[in-house]
Amino acid sequence: MPIVKTEAIILNSSDYRESTLLLTLLTPEHGRVRLIARGAKRATSRNRGRVEPLSRVEAQYSIRKPDELGTLRESRVLDSADCVRGDLLKYAAAQLAAEFADRAVHGGEECRGVYQALASFLSALKDAADPAARLVQGLAELLAELGFEPVVEHCVRCGEARPAESFSVALGGVVCRECSVGAPGRRPFNPGLQRILSLMLRRDPALARVKMSSAQTRQLLLTLLDLAQHHLDLQLRSRDFLWSMLNAGYGASERI
Ligand SMILES: [Zn+2]
Repeated sequence: MPIVKTEAIILNSSDYRESTLLLTLLTPEHGRVRLIARGAKRATSRNRGRVEPLSRVEAQYSIRKPDELGTLRESRVLDSADCVRGDLLKYAAAQLAAEFADRAVHGGEECRGVYQALASFLSALKDAADPAARLVQGLAELLAELGFEPVVEHCVRCGEARPAESFSVALGGVVCRECSVGAPGRRPFNPGLQRILSLMLRRDPALARVKMSSAQTRQLLLTLLDLAQHHLDLQLRSRDFLWSMLNAGYGASERI
């Protein structure tokens, strides 16, 4: 059986049998891979602690075909997610991005851009002062890598570079005042949100000086999640968990 050695992000893990875990990994060359990790739950296993969800690892596994269940042989942690798992809002944000990648990428499908976007997001999340705002940027980048970059530089209906009056989920971008009436899947938007999203998509250093309000963060998150749901059919279970964390006051400024 062919053996693959690759860098990977562990998207999730669940119990399979007594001491065995079922893992879902995202790899740059082979997309999503499902593996069993025999004995990983045993205290003596060499893979124990090396298959934690949301960590970046170097994995060796055997697999017959990319979309079949493979077997993990060895794993080495490259970037641990311990500090993300120790913070409820960061954990909720990371979970949502991992579920996004799990649902949007298929087995055997090269996905270097998506992989890189998720790896950068998880790494940046560790020191993020505002995890929810960082998630907005992460989702915008994931959508862009999947070919659904939100259009923010010009109106999606008339093509003119005008201030946004609304955002059309169905058309995938901002709509100006003149074109707003009748725009499909329209939600409220404004030039402030348009500017933030534009800075994020261009990875403009000026973003570091932008302080997003929690209302702006929520509005952008809702817009991007609706975009993913509409165009990629992603109804993410982690969305409710993230929202309950935000509603419980686990924001950047509100943290005790
Ligand atoms: Zn227009």
